[in-house]
Amino acid sequence: MNAVKPDNKVEILISAAEIAGRVATLAENIAAQLPPNMMIVALLRGSFVFTADLIRALHLVGAHPQVEFMALGSYGNQTASSGDVHIVRDLTENVAGRDVLIVDDILESGRTLTFARDLLRKRGATSIKIAVLLEKPGKRMTDIDADFVGFTISDKFVVGFGLDYANYYRELPYIGVVTT
Ligand code: 5GP
Ligand code: MG
Repeated sequence: MNAVKPDNKVEILISAAEIAGRVATLAENIAAQLPPNMMIVALLRGSFVFTADLIRALHLVGAHPQVEFMALGSYGNQTASSGDVHIVRDLTENVAGRDVLIVDDILESGRTLTFARDLLRKRGATSIKIAVLLEKPGKRMTDIDADFVGFTISDKFVVGFGLDYANYYRELPYIGVVTT
């Protein structure tokens, strides 16, 4: 993996303040539809920043989720995923009988979330809802939609707020577009 930070220009697409406001609204919507003892399954690595903000916003509206992490991989290059999704790191808790909220950074082709949803369904989750910070419409390769969407964006490669380019830029407090 490249240990030299790529020298890209990143333009702000969605500011930290906009994200914070939207996350608060998402938390209200989620708390209205899921029981307070929901289990959150956050898909690593891209969703960790969104998940961290979302669970604190959920606390403010009375939810007390348990939080689990699962890392999924898909073979492919840095900016496009192939269809082949696999488990890199599995959950440590049983999801059978639980109301699960899957949290991911971005819904694009839908392959990652379709794999996660089908897996948790097979393992006996009572209900499964999906929350994503970002969605790119018109790119779907599978029949899946998110129940809670932060922002719908155009088809540009974005970084920040957990999303990476070559594992860099995750620390940016905003969503940005790589321009060069
Ligand atoms: P899907 O399986 O829906 O095609 O892909 C979703 C995954 O692809 C995301 O979890 C994310 O890791 C990656 N991805 C898709 N679009 C972008 C993007 O614009 N920027 C970054 N950094 N990752 C993306
Ligand atoms: Mg991802």
